[in-house]
Amino acid sequence: MSRLVLVLGDQLSEDLAALREADPDRDVVVMAEVAAETGYAPHHPKKIALVLAAMRKFAARLRDQGWTVRYTQLDDTENAGSIPGELLRRAEETGISRVLATEPGEWRLIEALRDLPLDVTLREDDRFLCSHAQFQDWAKDRKSLRMEWFYRDMRRRTGLLMDGDQPEGGTWNYDSENRKPPPGGIGHSGPMKFTPDATVSEVLDLVEARFAGNFGTLRPFHFATDQAQARRALAQFIRYGLPEFGAYQDAMLDGEPFLNHALISPYLNIGLLSPLEVCRAAEAAYRRGEAPLNSVEGFIRQIIGWREYVRGIYFLEGPDYPRRNALNHQRKLPPLYWGAETKMRCLSRAVEQTRDEAYAHHIQRLMVTGNFGLIAGIDPAELHEWYLSVYADAFEWVEAPNTVGMSQFADGGILASKPYVSSGAYIDRMSDYCRPCAYKVKDKTGPEACPFNLLYWHFLTRHRARFERNPRMANMYRTWDRMKAPHRDTVLAEAEAFLDRLSAGKTV
Ligand SMILES: Cc1cc2nc3c(=O)[nH]c(=O)nc-3n(C[C@H](O)[C@H](O)[C@H](O)COP(=O)(O)OP(=O)(O)OC[C@H]3O[C@@H](n4cnc5c(N)ncnc54)[C@H](O)[C@@H]3O)c2cc1C
Ligand code: SF4
Repeated sequence: MSRLVLVLGDQLSEDLAALREADPDRDVVVMAEVAAETGYAPHHPKKIALVLAAMRKFAARLRDQGWTVRYTQLDDTENAGSIPGELLRRAEETGISRVLATEPGEWRLIEALRDLPLDVTLREDDRFLCSHAQFQDWAKDRKSLRMEWFYRDMRRRTGLLMDGDQPEGGTWNYDSENRKPPPGGIGHSGPMKFTPDATVSEVLDLVEARFAGNFGTLRPFHFATDQAQARRALAQFIRYGLPEFGAYQDAMLDGEPFLNHALISPYLNIGLLSPLEVCRAAEAAYRRGEAPLNSVEGFIRQIIGWREYVRGIYFLEGPDYPRRNALNHQRKLPPLYWGAETKMRCLSRAVEQTRDEAYAHHIQRLMVTGNFGLIAGIDPAELHEWYLSVYADAFEWVEAPNTVGMSQFADGGILASKPYVSSGAYIDRMSDYCRPCAYKVKDKTGPEACPFNLLYWHFLTRHRARFERNPRMANMYRTWDRMKAPHRDTVLAEAEAFLDRLSAGKTV
């Protein structure tokens, strides 16, 4: 009996579970560009273009390999507008009522497929290195789910950077050699850029016409949109970016949006690259003596550690995870996140770069936009929607744990052992944003005081009951308590005044 084989826009891998199981002579692949997916969040136009262009090229490749593909374009008049709607339409059209699908990466779609009045079989997405069962097994009976322990298990399981049963070099984690302040300049010219071909150009025109109102600059568009291009982008990173990846992983430089980062998350997340091939390429560079261990270990940890771990948490915690708000933060997302003017240079630069590239690296997301959101008490659900919208790599399984858990502590500490908050001093140390800023990073109070300096203490005092007994935060409270009472009062009063201006929509 024939089946409809669903391939979603982030499942563009030839070894996808459903495709492996299906029969090209009998089964029909269904792919659909639908308004429900392009519109469930106000996605960055570059993100929409990336996914649609990569889908069209993947469908063409499947056809070349002999598959029958029923492909729906966004502007097709028959388009049912949603994935379930398209499956129902194709079922009626072909008379096939059995559906074979690979589990989607978000609860919203899993539930929609389960509710379909068709005979749906969901296969686990084994493009990830840790299955649901393995993660549940790892998490079972543990008091805390710290990533570092998970990561060590993943090193053992994959054999990556292992020397027998010991970690390569004798140490699991080389972060003490990483996290250097920004270099004067960087030698690496950034990620490989691709000139739009005919398929990409057609999609760019479509996106321009339909999503002009969404936040984000569509052109120039340089993302890789097929596996061959993504592999070339990976090879360029391994050769030129990886050697200094570790050292400058946390650095931020104005005018250098990518530094030594790989810019491969969009490709990994839509299936153009596999996590294992990426890690093996990095390990091979180390074994050839072309990249140092601190960089290669740090890079591999992001992928077999953080990436797999956050996915494990997302599926372990269940569909309500993105809506959690343990700190009860209720402030509306200020317009500066959508590009409204702000005098805070770190934020304006991170947002401008996000608008232009649909990309910001981890520390910009965590310690600039995320840190500000947390210390300003912004509703994590609003931040979740923002991060889900503005980055080309944003899919809920990876974005929600990073935003809600790591960055906003809104899961109450499942993912992070302490909130990622800092004053302006951290941003000043790791970037060149502060010198030209209208605020003064050294000022703790007064009209020009860096807002991060004020809000940091405001956050700690308003959540004192929750955090003061956290051993990793005791020092912060001791520092606060040692300050003179009038100074503390001024800090808190100025923080309140700042938050009032922020909420009133004034330029801050
Ligand atoms: C608030 C917030 C939201 C985020 N949202 C997303 C998201 O929607 N999609 C996404 O892929 N990543 C997200 N991240 C994680 C991280 O910022 C990006 O993976 C990274 O910036 C991608 O750029 P890159 O490919 O240049 O990464 P590199 O710095 O070069 O790292 C290499 C790879 O490691 C993986 N990786 C690194 N850190 C993480 C992490 N914390 N979680 C998962 N994978 C990681 C990515 O696949 C990345 O491509 C978020 C982080 C924060 C703090
Ligand atoms: S002074 Fe404060 S607001 Fe300005 S760039 Fe530095 S950290 Fe950001």
